[in-house]
Amino acid sequence: MNYKLTIGWLYPELMSTYGDRGNIISLAKRCEWRNIEAEVRRLELGFKIEDLKKCDILFMGGAQDKQQSIVSHDFSTQKIKTLKRMIEDGIPGLYICGAYQFLGKYYKEADGTIIKGLGILDLYTESRGKNFKRLIGNIIIETRIKKLVGFENHGGRTYLGKNIKPLGTIVKGFGNNGDDKTEGAMYKNSFGSYLHGPILPKNPHFADLLIQLSLKKKYKQPFSLAKLEDTLEWKAHEAIANRLGIGL
Ligand code: GLN
Repeated sequence: MNYKLTIGWLYPELMSTYGDRGNIISLAKRCEWRNIEAEVRRLELGFKIEDLKKCDILFMGGAQDKQQSIVSHDFSTQKIKTLKRMIEDGIPGLYICGAYQFLGKYYKEADGTIIKGLGILDLYTESRGKNFKRLIGNIIIETRIKKLVGFENHGGRTYLGKNIKPLGTIVKGFGNNGDDKTEGAMYKNSFGSYLHGPILPKNPHFADLLIQLSLKKKYKQPFSLAKLEDTLEWKAHEAIANRLGIGL
């Protein structure tokens, strides 16, 4: 049987920063290397809901507040409903930084402006004024699938509600808010995180989890993925851990 995954890339022009596009390359390549066809569908401003519905994995990256505000106006009620249905239905997705904030209830900018969130995940984000320190640097977190490494740069502090779990706990870095030691969020098969870098090329185990979940969802059977030669990927992973003085 020929397997195929359609990777939906939400707002590639506006929502992609600090190497986020590497996540799409990583997902597509890791599929191709296993003879799984990967089609990348770019969902730019004004995208059609029909195109969103065809996706088997979703990805949206981070951006500055201005871009987040433009995108929030493109998210019609109908688009929000469709995305919510897909997330509730277990369509796997990865949402980084600005995109992660966006899935929550709201994001309060440094000047107090509120960008309404999609209200899909039980979380909210607030920036504490222009003079408040941004949370910047390399980061390492402990998760259910081993450690994840990345780079974070955000002003917003995210707080999780009781209906959602963190993606991981901080080993080094700031994470959701710099206080409670949590990083990111998980809900069904959707993951939110502050880890840019990009996250997937240097955390191949996380890329494979997303691919595996998508195949399982689409073809309604468990999948074990063929092993790939990941020496370089793990070297990149280790390089960040070493910089932070953390042995793996
Ligand atoms: N604008 C958001 C913040 O600073 C998101 C930044 C980002 O995506 N890197 O909190």
